[in-house]
Formats: sequence, structure tokens, C-alpha cells
Amino acid sequence: MRAACFLESGKPMEVCDVPDPAPGPGEVVLAIKGCGICGSDLHVTELGGAVPHGAVMGHEFAGEIVAVGKGATGPDGPWREGDRVCTMPGISCGACERCVTGDVMGCAKLRMTGFGDIGGGYAEYAIAGDRMTFRLPGNVASADGAMVEPLAVGLHAVDVARLRTGEDVLVAGAGPVGLAIVIWARLLGAREIVVSDPAPHRRDLAARLGATVLVDPGAEELGPAFERATGRAPSLSFECVGRPGVVSDLSLLSARGGRILSAGMCMAPDPILPLVFGTKELSISFCSYYRTGDYRLTLDMLEAERIDPLPMVTDRIALDALPAAFEALRQPTSECKVIVQP
Ligand SMILES: [Zn+2]
Ligand SMILES: [Zn+2]
Repeated sequence: MRAACFLESGKPMEVCDVPDPAPGPGEVVLAIKGCGICGSDLHVTELGGAVPHGAVMGHEFAGEIVAVGKGATGPDGPWREGDRVCTMPGISCGACERCVTGDVMGCAKLRMTGFGDIGGGYAEYAIAGDRMTFRLPGNVASADGAMVEPLAVGLHAVDVARLRTGEDVLVAGAGPVGLAIVIWARLLGAREIVVSDPAPHRRDLAARLGATVLVDPGAEELGPAFERATGRAPSLSFECVGRPGVVSDLSLLSARGGRILSAGMCMAPDPILPLVFGTKELSISFCSYYRTGDYRLTLDMLEAERIDPLPMVTDRIALDALPAAFEALRQPTSECKVIVQP
């Protein structure tokens, strides 16, 4: 099959021929119909040695089952060729306490898809674990099933942050993670959803997806803007930027007793001032991936047409165009989510 192979940091990926994947017991092979390009992919390729030479990346994908391994069973019986599905990017053991409680991405024996262990979705085909694969509703196109993964990330973040009905929320950063949080905050009953991002096209997208107040942090101060809109300082802030300093900024403008959820996965040390957290009794939490229930609820809400992530999709490209498109995303761009359709 054809796949985009990672070579080394500083070099574009290369589309090459690699062996077709074959399913082991409990595994299925998908013909990839859509795979989202993720900011994490861009970041890890900049860390020398984090991704092995020749790895096929891509962890936000969906497609059609073309081969079923021994005993591979979904929630409603054995998987069959032709089933349209999306999948979590990994294969877990299925037996440990994490796995049986739905925290499959926290399994100690997890083999990750798209970072070197198992080939990912920047390819014609990829392997998926049977219990981590979910049927797509009839109203979700196979390529658009790639959006389930980033939506589940946002849902889990809102869940970890314990958003209260009627709470005003602040979302700093309107990339795909921040926008997915906006979608869920709106559905789950936030009152004002204040989104801060310097890029006008991202603020526009946030407004389309449910943000009620938009702030350009280059033009006005975020804290006063939030208070003007809501009458109070934020009790819940989401950090979706991933750069040092943002958590500290949010702590300074938080209300007493406020919560900060850091979803930006900053890869550098990020100092905070415990005195600020202490005197205001702030708390901070972090989140990683999602639980099985996040995928189920995301799919149910897509089926019911109560959420629509498609405004986030700004481009769809062929596999051959991926290496150049991937490099272009390292620079500031007006793209949000680019979907590769091999
Ligand atoms: Zn991702
Ligand atoms: Zn496990």
C-alpha cells in the first residue's frame, strides 16, 4: 500500500510503498477514508528521535473495514468487511482495570497507533483494535468520521473540568481542541462562552461553533473583557494554547476558587506562581485523550445532529499532497483541520 512515511526531523514525509497491514486476533484493517492532521503530529516530529524513521503517523482516522482478524468483535456482534467505523488510535490489552472501566488509552500495555508502534492513518490502510473501534452513524460520511477523535478530546476536557450548567467559561486558544471544547460547552449548558484567540479566522470559527463573546488578545485585555461580558471573573478557564505563560495568565484573572483545565499539552516547562493559586484557592487539572464513553456520546450526538464539527474542516487533500501540506501547517496558516483522504 501507499503511505506517508516519516523520515527524520526537519525533512518532509515521503509517500512510499510499504507492506499491507494484516489483522492479528481481535484486530481489523480499515481502508482509510479520512485522517485528520493534528497539531501533536507536527510537534512530535520536531522532537528529534520521538518518532522512529519510517513510521506512518496519523491518529484521527475513520474508514471501512476490509479485513477482520480472528474473533474481532464489536459492540453488536462480529465486525464485518464493509462496516464503516472510526477508531481510537491504539490497541489496549482489554483485560486490565483501566480497560474494563473504559480508560482504554490509559492501559499500561497500550500500543499507540500513528507514533511508531502501529502504522497510522496517513496511509491507504491501517490496523485497529476491535473493542476500540466504533460504528459510524448513517449520517456521518466515512471521511468525516475523522472528526470523532478531536471531538472526543474536547468532550473529555469539559468532563474533567466539571463544567456546571449555566457557568460562564473562558476558552483561551481556538485551535481544534479549543473549538471542540466550545462545541461541548454550548451543548452542555454553559451560559457565556468567551473565546480568546489572536487569529480572526479562528475567532470566526469559534463564533460559528457556539462562542458568545470573542476577544482579540492583541487588541484588548482578556480579564476585563470577560468581566464586561459576564459581570464576574472566570470560575472555569480552558487553556488550549500549549505555550508557556498561558496558565499563569489565566490564574491571575481567575475568580477566587476558580478552576483551570490545561488541555494545550505545552511541551516546555511552564512556571506558575503558587502564591496566586494559594491566595485565590485555584485548582488546575489536566486531561489526556478520552474514555470509551466519550466516543459513544460523540457518535450519538453526531447521529442526532446536535453537534456539527464540519465548519472546522478547512481542507481535504489526497495522500500525495500530505507531505507538503503537513510542512505548510508549521507556519501560521488560516487552516483549522485538514483531512487527508487517501
Ligand atoms: Zn490529535
Ligand atoms: Zn489494558
